[in-house]
Amino acid sequence: MNSKNKILIHACCGVCFSYPLIALRELGFEPVVYFFNSNIYPESEFERRYLELEKYCAKNNVELIKESYSHDDFLSRVRGYENLPEKSDRCKKCFYYRLKATVNKALELKIDKITTTLSVSPHKVSKDIFEMGRLAVLGTNIEFMEFDFKKHDGFKKTSKIAYDFGMYRQKYCGCEFSIKPAKSS
Ligand code: SF4
Repeated sequence: MNSKNKILIHACCGVCFSYPLIALRELGFEPVVYFFNSNIYPESEFERRYLELEKYCAKNNVELIKESYSHDDFLSRVRGYENLPEKSDRCKKCFYYRLKATVNKALELKIDKITTTLSVSPHKVSKDIFEMGRLAVLGTNIEFMEFDFKKHDGFKKTSKIAYDFGMYRQKYCGCEFSIKPAKSS
């Protein structure tokens, strides 16, 4: 593999990585996956999403790096923003938290490009993700690549691959603030 084409991709789960893997390989990149998602609550859910991603990466010969769980660290980053809805400034802080960690890992690995699977979700504002990505690489030699994976039916494609692969699909974004109360019958 040409090391020049390596890209470190922050991945939030297996489902969201499924189509970006194909898109990146079509563009000539070889992704290394970084699982840094202490935003996820509870820890059992963090592990469940990781295991699905691990299976998908193993099947497709993708290198995967897991970072340990530290939910208190995430909570300290979004303190004061807990009651805001999804797509708010809380999510921008959450994006920055995860993308900054990805930048640091890329520096450690000497990979000069990063991106994220977050943009594949129709529930996330790509513009906000890109803004936080640009902020995270400021002052470094890392390039944040603004792939909007939800474009060109990206979410539909990711859903189809995940379905065919039999992946577990979560019902909420990740943090406890995104868990919707069950409807009473
Ligand atoms: S809703 Fe999702 S993106 Fe927003 S703060 Fe929670 S885990 Fe992060």
